[in-house]
Amino acid sequence: MTENPFFKPSTLVYELPPFAEIREEHYLPAFERGMAEQLAEIGEITANPEPPTFENTLIALERSGALLRRVRVVFENQSSADTTPGVDRVDAEISPLLAAHRDAIHLDAALFARVEELYARRAELGLDPESLRLLERRHTAFVRAGARLDADRQQRLRGLNAELATASAVFRQNVAADSKARALVVDSAEELAGLSPDEIAAAAENGRALGHDGKYVLSLKNFSNQSELASLTDRSVRERLLAASLGRAVATNGPLAIRMSALRAERARLLGYDTHAAYVVADETAGTVDAVDALLARLVPPAVANARREAAELAKLAAADGIDEIAAHDWAYYSEQVRQSSYQVDAGALRPYFELERVLRDGVFFAANLAYGVTFTERPDLVAYHPDVRVFEVFEEDGGSLGLFLGDFHARASKRGGAWMDELVTQSGLLGRRPVVYNNLNVARPAPGEPVLLSWDEVRTLFHEFGHALHGLFSDVRYPYFAGTDVPRDFVEFPSQVNEMWMVRPEVLANYARHHVTGEPLPAELVERMAAAEGFGQGFRTVEYLAAALLDWAWHSVPEGQEITDAEEFEAAALAKAGLAVAAIPPRYRTAYFSHIFSGGYSAGYYAYIWSEVLDAETVDWFERNGRSVRESAEVFRRELLSRGDSRDALDSFRAVVGRDPQPGPLLARRGLA
Ligand SMILES: [Zn+2]
Repeated sequence: MTENPFFKPSTLVYELPPFAEIREEHYLPAFERGMAEQLAEIGEITANPEPPTFENTLIALERSGALLRRVRVVFENQSSADTTPGVDRVDAEISPLLAAHRDAIHLDAALFARVEELYARRAELGLDPESLRLLERRHTAFVRAGARLDADRQQRLRGLNAELATASAVFRQNVAADSKARALVVDSAEELAGLSPDEIAAAAENGRALGHDGKYVLSLKNFSNQSELASLTDRSVRERLLAASLGRAVATNGPLAIRMSALRAERARLLGYDTHAAYVVADETAGTVDAVDALLARLVPPAVANARREAAELAKLAAADGIDEIAAHDWAYYSEQVRQSSYQVDAGALRPYFELERVLRDGVFFAANLAYGVTFTERPDLVAYHPDVRVFEVFEEDGGSLGLFLGDFHARASKRGGAWMDELVTQSGLLGRRPVVYNNLNVARPAPGEPVLLSWDEVRTLFHEFGHALHGLFSDVRYPYFAGTDVPRDFVEFPSQVNEMWMVRPEVLANYARHHVTGEPLPAELVERMAAAEGFGQGFRTVEYLAAALLDWAWHSVPEGQEITDAEEFEAAALAKAGLAVAAIPPRYRTAYFSHIFSGGYSAGYYAYIWSEVLDAETVDWFERNGRSVRESAEVFRRELLSRGDSRDALDSFRAVVGRDPQPGPLLARRGLA
């Protein structure tokens, strides 16, 4: 048997993982050895008879766990982007062991004693700002993980973390399984009237692939609202599709959500906080529960008022079809009708101008070149984790190499829904590493020989995720702890949202939005009408988002000991209390498939998207009014913010760019909430 490829550092360029050699059976042994190795490394730190120094404790900690990190990043990527039943089994097995491993480090009394001693003497150590911050942030992480609790409480904490880790893996797998099981199966193409011929062909192909030969299957995507609802003309099919989506995993994940919320409340209490939300937000830029409450409360009434105005418009068109009251399954359909009749925008008519390859090279890469001078060269010689994945080497303006960007754009059965960015190699001056980052999207694959044409939203997603990629690629820090996107949760969506602005900048749009057959540019008046039509949907989009954010907030504002008997009742009561019980607008995610908060890292953190958008809107505004050229502004943004990661306070980086504290004005104007 060949040696496990995770056991040694990769010898490939940029330490790209050796995907050609990695097999499923390598994961478990590599995890086991990786955890054992890191514990041995920690053991060496604590067994050192020398008094603690920054070098022999903090730097040693930064260097520890290299093998574990190598396997973890590759495994996490595969379990999201190309999973198998075997990978799912490893995930379920390894999740509680990894939680226990983190506890073994954070609750190691001898290790914490060294960190605590250094922390107490931090002013005398002569540390540079980044090193001082490493000591402070590591110390905070130990305390927040329970390092100061007594042995009994630490024992209970270990139990809570293990149960939560298992529950979170089960939650994720329940969502995946029930999303598959509840895919909508229809008998005839007539029932899918309104969808394009390509979409109907894809549904037939999907039927064959899923064992429903001769039938048509619409698979469920992450969100509550399924994209087909905008075009399906048969109201009963729309109703069935939305009901399938909204009912996902209720029976299994409803009780699990109740349990997880109780465990998190107990853990928060152990750690000295009233609620899990208070615990989480204390370490975010928001700082306090009150600050989050205040922003959300300010947004709800005008957003609901906008949604009601939109509903009145929809009702006029629906009345002509004999519908007296707009239901949730009608909203997207009649919104599309309003867009077509009031704004003369047909979402389908834009697609021919957004061919994936062109949007990527002449839009996303072009904008990055315009702003930052960077260039991209495809490296087909480098093997990625799936044949779909493209590998690009990224160069500075002066030709110096920066890192690798992997793009995995297409949906497949083995990939979870949504879009995301992550890293395979984290930048670090200390470890001499340059970044390897990737983007995952879920663009449907067209029929063989057909071009890949994107929707307006997919183009935006491409720019958004690439904004995260740039945050990782431009990272220029010493310690891996601070690299790239390892910033507060309520800050991380900010740089990616800023990158969305390039999508509609005239010089960028003119360069990429061209008809894939005729090469003719997207007519300017179509863009203007699209922008006006976007304004129309803001009420719906803001309410849908806020409902999810407040639902997350409610689940994590439950104090220890509060009994919840039914997840759906809890959800309804929470939305009503927040003033967001708009019957025709379900939350973007309902509790039972809200993976961000029950199996991702967003518990008590879904508010982060709109919190980040305050910073985003301010920054876009700053780009417009600061009087510098685009190139100069972008360099300031890169130097003061993107390159810093978490090596200085996030809001200090924001202030270094914009020159003041964030104000909500530009966001309120953008969303029509002023
Ligand atoms: Zn994002």
